[in-house]
Order: sequence, then structure tokens, then C-alpha cells
Amino acid sequence: MPSPDRPAATTARAAAGAPGPVLTDGFGRFHDYLRISVTDRCNLRCLYCMPADGLVWKERAEILTFEEIERIAGLLVRQGVRKIRLTGGEPTMRRDLEVLIARLRALPGLQSLVMTTNGLRLADRAARYRAAGLDGLNVSLDTLRPDRFEQMTRRTGLERVRHGLEAALAAGFATVKLNVVVMRGLNDDELPDFARLARTSPLEVRFIEFMPFDRNEWSTDRLVPYAEMRRRVESAVTLQPLAAGPNAVAREFAVAGGAGRIGFVTSMTEDFCAGCNRLRLTADGRLKNCLFSVGEADLRGPLRAGADEAELLAVIRGCVREKWAGHPPPAELAALHNRAMIQIGG
Ligand code: SAM
Ligand code: SF4
Repeated sequence: MPSPDRPAATTARAAAGAPGPVLTDGFGRFHDYLRISVTDRCNLRCLYCMPADGLVWKERAEILTFEEIERIAGLLVRQGVRKIRLTGGEPTMRRDLEVLIARLRALPGLQSLVMTTNGLRLADRAARYRAAGLDGLNVSLDTLRPDRFEQMTRRTGLERVRHGLEAALAAGFATVKLNVVVMRGLNDDELPDFARLARTSPLEVRFIEFMPFDRNEWSTDRLVPYAEMRRRVESAVTLQPLAAGPNAVAREFAVAGGAGRIGFVTSMTEDFCAGCNRLRLTADGRLKNCLFSVGEADLRGPLRAGADEAELLAVIRGCVREKWAGHPPPAELAALHNRAMIQIGG
């Protein structure tokens, strides 16, 4: 029996996987991609992601349980979400993560379940995650030099990440991507080295423009714009443009004579807001309608107070409706009181 919040037509549309009103914003964008942060903790301290000090970890009771994540994800998948990405903090810090992976994979209608990780723990876990039903992995690695790894992550571990990446490539995932945040004066001289990696490995290397978040040392000077990144990549390899889907977040290229691909995530200089289909669930149960949204909708409170599906959907619908047409330019973003990236998940 359809609830007042889900009239018969809505239910039928959602069941058919067609865009329904709950996940459609005021600009007609349908949100079928959910990114779930499963923890705010991390075993690295990347300087572009979190402040050097002063960040307080959430208490365990504040973090959503697997059951709560599954309930919210299930609700959203029934409304039309087709892709879920697990993130963090560092998602592999969450004990028994494969149990959550298996439960989410079993949601009827979900087409793709992927994860973004720093790769430190992948060497002995990649195969387990694959067996539980994870379809793809993005591994974050910003430098191929051990001293720089320590400078950028404030920890050691480059060799472990490289082993993790090998394990990911051997585990049979549909996609393995490498995320590289590019910062001027820190790792921008490695663009050609990473580009050559995409020629020799079946990897998609994604160069990401440095974005401003709470006390993350962002400045205009440190941002290497897409146009410049591309020039420097093309000094090492020949790029062949690939067709972009309607919700693409990266400009993608094949590498001539190579096994892999190269992508550029250009959120700062050429944003993808017009085709945005992404919602974010934080580890403490807040729904964000944009990476840069300061407003958040609390789902944990109503969930723990016993809200039924219609009440939760009303909160979700309100959050989606409030989404802006697009985020402001980088200098204005830097002045926002948003969370640190580690508390959102990317
Ligand atoms: N710990 C995992 C990892 O590092 O892959 C998942 C969480 S991390 C917040 C998700 C992605 O956001 C990573 O690829 C990371 O490099 C990226 N990221 C973090 N801070 C960023 C920033 N200021 N600008 C651009 N990308 C950023
Ligand atoms: Fe941790 Fe990932 Fe942020 Fe680095 S980017 S501090 S690995 S959450």
C-alpha cells in the first residue's frame, strides 16, 4: 500500500528505476549515485584533506551502524539510486567491512558498488572485498616518491600502497582507478610519471584539482588548473578523448599505445554541477546534497527515534530540493564553514 509520501505513481516509477520526485532537485537533476562514508577515522593524515591538529574523532555511538547504513541505503535504492561508493575517512578502518559490502550488494536494483581507499590495507583485503561483491576500487596515491609520500600524508607507507594497488589489480575488479590530487610545488612535477603509468598498467589515473576545505592549506597558487595539468601530461603521452556520459565527473582520455586511461577531475576550473547526480551520507548520518553544502539533513536522529519510511523520505526530499544550481568559485568555497574533507569522504 503506497504511503502518502509515496503515491502509487511514485512507487511504480521507483520500482522501474525511473527518476522519481524524492531524488529530483529543483533543477531537474535526478540523484542516482550515493556516496557513503563509513568512518571519519583514517590511518593517514593527508595535508590536503585534514588540518594538522584540532580535529576531534566522533564517538563510536555517533557513527551509523551497518544496520542503519543498510536501512538508509535500501530506502534510497528503492527511490532510484543505482550506484553506491563507500568512502571515509579510510573505509578499510571499519571492522568487518566485507559484511557491509555483502549486505549492500544484495540490495535489489543496485547496479554498482565501489569504494575509494588509500590502499594501505588492500594487500591482504582486496580479494576479500571483491569476493563480498565490491565491483570497483579507486586507490588514492599522490606521489611515487617515499619522502614526498611522508610529506603529503604525514605518515609512511608508500610501499604498502603499491602492494595494495597490485592486489587490487589482481583481484578481478571491473575498474581500478588511481586518484592523484595535484598540488603546485608538492607533486605537480610527477604528472608525466603518473601519465606513463597509465600507458603501462590497465589503470585509469585521475588527476584531481586541489579543492578547498576546512584548514587544508588550500590557496589559489597551489591549485594546478586542468589546462595546465593536461599540457604537462601531454608532454609524456598522447591523449585520445573519450565520450563523456551525462553525469561524468572526469574528462577522460585513452592513452595512445597504452593499456590505461587518464582522467581529469576539474571541479575547480570547469565544474560538473549541471549534471550532478550525487548525494553524500556522512559517517554520523547526515545527508549532504553537495560536497560543498554547509547545510546538512540529519537522518540519524529520526532513524534512532523510530521514524518510518515516509518520515525519512520527507527529510531526504527536503534535502534534495534545497540543492543549489552549482557551487560558487574556489575563493568563495575557501571561506565556507564546511566540514574537513576527511569528514565528508570526497
Ligand atoms: N581515505 C580514502 C582515500 O584517501 O582514498 C577515502 C576518503 S578521501 C577523503 C576521498 C578522496 O578525496 C581521495 O581520493 C582524496 O585524495 C580526495 N581528496 C581529499 N582531499 C581533497 C582535496 N582537498 N581536493 C581534492 N581531492 C581531495
Ligand atoms: Fe585519510 Fe583519505 Fe583523507 Fe588521506 S585523503 S587523510 S587517506 S581520508
